[in-house]
Amino acid sequence: MISSEHIKRAAAEAGFDLCGITAAKPLLRNREAFVRWIEKGYHSSLSYLERNLDKRFDAAQLVEGARSVAVCAVGYKSSLGEGYEPSWPAKVASYAACEDYHTVIKSMLRVMADRLRELYPDLRGRMFTDSAPLCEKQLAVEAGLGWIGRQSLLVTPELGSFVLLGELVLCDEVDCYDTPFEGSRCGTCRACVDACPGGAILDGCMIDTSRCISCHTVERQPDNRIDLHGWIFGCDMCQSCCPYNRRAPQHRNRRFDPLFDPRSMTARRWRMLDEESFAELFSRTPLMRSGRSRIVANIDDGE
Ligand code: SF4
Ligand code: SF4
Repeated sequence: MISSEHIKRAAAEAGFDLCGITAAKPLLRNREAFVRWIEKGYHSSLSYLERNLDKRFDAAQLVEGARSVAVCAVGYKSSLGEGYEPSWPAKVASYAACEDYHTVIKSMLRVMADRLRELYPDLRGRMFTDSAPLCEKQLAVEAGLGWIGRQSLLVTPELGSFVLLGELVLCDEVDCYDTPFEGSRCGTCRACVDACPGGAILDGCMIDTSRCISCHTVERQPDNRIDLHGWIFGCDMCQSCCPYNRRAPQHRNRRFDPLFDPRSMTARRWRMLDEESFAELFSRTPLMRSGRSRIVANIDDGE
């Protein structure tokens, strides 16, 4: 049996802002809603989402013997999240100006697990951050961290939605589990729905990925071209407008300091970059996974 207090202290020492703990149990209602979303085709070309449903909605199917999940969140809000001039031709989502969160959060989870192993040498489990079929956002709700906003992202009362998640799936029980977050605090607000340029935010906190700029620029080639509204990697529009993000504090963990300022990069400057200078500038950021040519191809021809 692991102490929840020890887990939360280890998470804080590793640099996380929030940590909640939930039992590893099947999330059947979430699974049903996800299946309905898939059946309507809103995942468009993200066909990998059709696979591994058993694992995605039951941590014990992903990690044999899993009993508990510690869901950790770290805020990354910076001035970039306040948005761009609408006409800016080369917008980058604010998380992408930072060091790649897969690397940073994995290393934070490693620190957290090491701290716990000092107290529990037989600790067994695995760590994840957006790297496996695991329903991170729903687990975060179960762990009491926040609710799913209309834009389908986790919104936390303290830090809004500019948070990144990491999970430690543990094969031990924990002495105290957090109470799941009940309901939504979006109220009558529809700011994200109104801000989304492609009308991608549907009723029921669902996204039509075929209309989402972020999906087009990050996850897939923009084959059926949509208007990217100046975004060349990701899109923050449904987050910059959110009242919870407007009042959230700036990030505290220095590892999420932006490594460059996209507001100083004109369309011409992006186009002038050769592969070598692109790698020099962005090798530590998520932009590297996309690569220079794909990012430059997202710049509107008229710019
Ligand atoms: S990321 Fe952009 S395009 Fe996608 S839902 Fe949010 S506002 Fe709409
Ligand atoms: S903008 Fe409004 S509706 Fe959208 S997630 Fe934030 S609070 Fe909810």
